[in-house]
Amino acid sequence: MKKMFTVAIDGPAGSGKSSTARRVAKALGYTYIDTGAMYRAVTLLALRNGSLDNRENVIKLLKENKISLKSGSEGNTVFLNDEDITHEIRSELINNNVSKISSFPEVRTELVRMQQEMGKNGGVVMEGRDICSVVFPNAEFKFFFTASVEERAKRRLKDLEADGSSVTLEEVRESIIKRDNFDSGRGVSPMKKTPDSIEIDTTSMTLDEQCEFIVNLVREKEQNDG
Ligand code: C5P
Repeated sequence: MKKMFTVAIDGPAGSGKSSTARRVAKALGYTYIDTGAMYRAVTLLALRNGSLDNRENVIKLLKENKISLKSGSEGNTVFLNDEDITHEIRSELINNNVSKISSFPEVRTELVRMQQEMGKNGGVVMEGRDICSVVFPNAEFKFFFTASVEERAKRRLKDLEADGSSVTLEEVRESIIKRDNFDSGRGVSPMKKTPDSIEIDTTSMTLDEQCEFIVNLVREKEQNDG
């Protein structure tokens, strides 16, 4: 039987990790898991209940509700209980509040536990901010994606425009810098490159090049270990 590995990808907003992870998973026949979507779902839950500033309430809400991901060939469908919230969690409102929610240690403990459960049998491409450092520190493949802030802002703007949002490049740029600073400066599991991760600067790379690089490495190991 083919060996199934764990591919962990971390990096800041707009670094290309989501599109790459999705495509790599498809090419390898692995399951794609977008952990950022889970933090976004908790943020939506908190916002809807007016609990953004009430940490105890957020934890309570998380325990009382069910957040789940369904993996498909086009990415993850995100559910809050039975409601499909895939689209709603991509708004600027969520972008601007998610870092706060993801800095609550109890939220992280619960979501990390769920992520470890989802990936326990390998055969996953999981992306986020702490996958290489906390969720799967022993993953066979660990990558840290980066790209210049200008390029990342341009990519984000394109996504937001495609979603019908009318924000400016400068607003997107400011919002991602703020989020990066918060994510890498927080006390619990800050976003950082672990020493054993391969850094990929995607500023001048195409999606095909990014995917090919990772897929080739995994296929080589599958053959050698198989
Ligand atoms: O990847 P995405 O931009 O959807 O992530 C949204 C937010 O979720 C990040 O800015 C970060 O605050 C949080 N996050 C995290 N740990 C992860 C994935 C995402 O803290 N593993």
